[in-house]
Amino acid sequence: MKLTDRALFLLSVPKCIGCGERLSFGRFVLCPRCELEYLAYKDERCPDCAQYLRNCTCLPKYLNRNHIHKLYKVFRYSRKSGCPVSNNLIAALKHGNNKYVSAFLAEELADVLRGKFSDPDKWMIVSLPRSAGSIMKYGYDQTRLLCKYLSADIGIEYVPVLRRVRATREQKTLTALERRENVKNAFCVKDTEAVRGKKVILVDDVVTSGATMASAAETLHDAGAARIVGAAPSVAFSTTVRRIFRVKKRGG
Ligand SMILES: [Zn+2]
Ligand SMILES: [Zn+2]
Repeated sequence: MKLTDRALFLLSVPKCIGCGERLSFGRFVLCPRCELEYLAYKDERCPDCAQYLRNCTCLPKYLNRNHIHKLYKVFRYSRKSGCPVSNNLIAALKHGNNKYVSAFLAEELADVLRGKFSDPDKWMIVSLPRSAGSIMKYGYDQTRLLCKYLSADIGIEYVPVLRRVRATREQKTLTALERRENVKNAFCVKDTEAVRGKKVILVDDVVTSGATMASAAETLHDAGAARIVGAAPSVAFSTTVRRIFRVKKRGG
């Protein structure tokens, strides 16, 4: 084998998203060790309702006030106290343009959603569109990709009906209040007819403060959506967890 051929072969062998090791044949996302770590982490329970996160539909109060009835999620996202494997999965979804990771996380979310919607014809999947700046930077819209796989998995139509109408700042460094201001009226509905009277599964990659999802839900609600639930592979439970810890402390 020529050196260049060999190099090409080695380059094409997928690496584990968790630890970077080369994967054995038939594996495309995680090595067995990282998979175990991920599966154990996924068994975390919600600090509010004590159910496994995959069964919990709790949501930040702010979202509840803004037309979102439930929030489905797979695991908790935290750069500080989360699991490195799941953090890497989210990073790869956001920045890696890796179809295996998108399909894997879509399947994980599909497992949570499957069987929850008895009338699939009345529902539609809508993605939160990535900002134009991020699409320029990374070359794709990760939530759109996620939704395409999710739609195939659960048999509910994906309709990319939301559009960003103005540029927003990156949310990472903003406070909750700044986030709300930042994304206020950031979206519009491309086709109101497609939304009126429909039930919507609004999908994002990570829900942090819920500000972006709330703003999109408001827009969908104004366009006549009958019911809206949120869904994301990952949710940062920062405010909820803080509140729970405060309560626990007070009680001794
Ligand atoms: Zn690994
Ligand atoms: Zn819960």
